[in-house]
Amino acid sequence: MTYPPQPYPPQADPPYGTWTPGPAPARRRGTAGIVAATIVGTAVVLVVLAVVAAGLNANTASAYPWTHGSAGVEAEAAATNWEFPVPEPSASRGTPEERINALCAELNESLTTRNREAFFAHVQGAAVGPLTRWWNNMDQLGWTTGAIGVYDNEAHGGMTIDAVMFLGAQMPFGKGTARGSGVPGAGMASFPVMPYDAEVEFNDGPQIVQWVPHGEPAPWDSDDLVAVRGNNVVIAAAQDEQGLLADTLAMADSAAEWVMTDYAASTGKVAPVTGFTSFVTLSAERFARWYAGQISVDNVAGVAMARYNPPSAAAHPDPVIITGPQTGGSFMAIGPGAFKPREYAERVFAHEFTHAIQEADVPDLKTDFLGDEKSAIEGWARYQDLRYMNGGTYPVGSRVSRESKWCIGKFFDGAVPENDAFEGQDAFCFYEIASTLYAYLADAGYDPLAVANAAKRDHGNPLAASGDFKGAGVSRDEWTRWVNHNIL
Ligand SMILES: [Zn+2]
Repeated sequence: MTYPPQPYPPQADPPYGTWTPGPAPARRRGTAGIVAATIVGTAVVLVVLAVVAAGLNANTASAYPWTHGSAGVEAEAAATNWEFPVPEPSASRGTPEERINALCAELNESLTTRNREAFFAHVQGAAVGPLTRWWNNMDQLGWTTGAIGVYDNEAHGGMTIDAVMFLGAQMPFGKGTARGSGVPGAGMASFPVMPYDAEVEFNDGPQIVQWVPHGEPAPWDSDDLVAVRGNNVVIAAAQDEQGLLADTLAMADSAAEWVMTDYAASTGKVAPVTGFTSFVTLSAERFARWYAGQISVDNVAGVAMARYNPPSAAAHPDPVIITGPQTGGSFMAIGPGAFKPREYAERVFAHEFTHAIQEADVPDLKTDFLGDEKSAIEGWARYQDLRYMNGGTYPVGSRVSRESKWCIGKFFDGAVPENDAFEGQDAFCFYEIASTLYAYLADAGYDPLAVANAAKRDHGNPLAASGDFKGAGVSRDEWTRWVNHNIL
């Protein structure tokens, strides 16, 4: 793979792929991508690992050789960067910059102690509403600490600064492991931050007077949330949809426990997450807002979104927060498509949680613009969600669904699907095909997770990556024989 001419131009990242029989669905692209990618600089880079699961369109399902129409699941990754110019150094910026850094130091103190009064002593005007919502939502989600800082700023006459700031909080379930687990970073706080366009005035002591999400809003920026906590998950919904919480908590907890336990059983290590934070909605409009507005969400069931850690610990009083240029955790948004039928949501949770674990295991780096090899992430997540739904083993023989059998028979040619295969109209089929690779590798005595993670890390073909683990014995021909014997 070669570097794209621009780092991860969003227009090159397919926002979704829907396995819809018949004519291709019209694709719509939102405006969020327009913000991105054209300004070259250094400051803010966001990765969105988007995982999209879709149901069949009932109207067109009859075009395919089976009659029921709910089994489609598909997924894909999209990534978005946006960057900011670094202003020329100027003496006139010195004082305001020092002042905004001093403000951040104070605000970080407030976040660390979750001292609302102290924090809002520096918030006025149009910033009060959005930051109050943020704070209330973090209380609902059960946050333990937070971080705020400045990616970039531009002074206007010394009394006002327009800044791109970051803000984020550690939630009870996310990336990380308990102290004493022996894993690097154990016991430290790893959480993602979001960028905001802020205006800070210095007329009467530093005050944040404007606070708007920079680009896509997170669920906690766009809705007043209610959250419930299970053993391994926090599930949140907008206040007017809190009836959905009881309905989904048990499913999410069950899927979460399985993916974490399975990770520990297969690796001998504790999972690199303490659990999962998910946002659920039956509203297509709300779901579209949560997922960036970049995609048509008509057939989307769920997404897992990874975001970066705070860029630095400067002006932050808490030394245990992990900073730096890697993703610091994922959060999940589960939309109306996950509930058709309702039980389908459990599989979507298992799929998205698998992504969150893999992303914690092999975090994306800001310095790496290649993007994920989809066979390494979607094939692996599909392999896991199929195992979960089949009692822990990958379905073969009579356990293989008609859809899967049909797809694999039609499209499998012994090659690992290329990334664009995961984006087209028949994407569902290529997820199924990619999942068989891990089932085959497991049967051949390989560690399928190690292969998937190596392929994610190296942006490589998992079939080639498997050679790193045992040296020999796998091939296109052997994989083809395995599929013919076990699936078709
Ligand atoms: Zn996926």
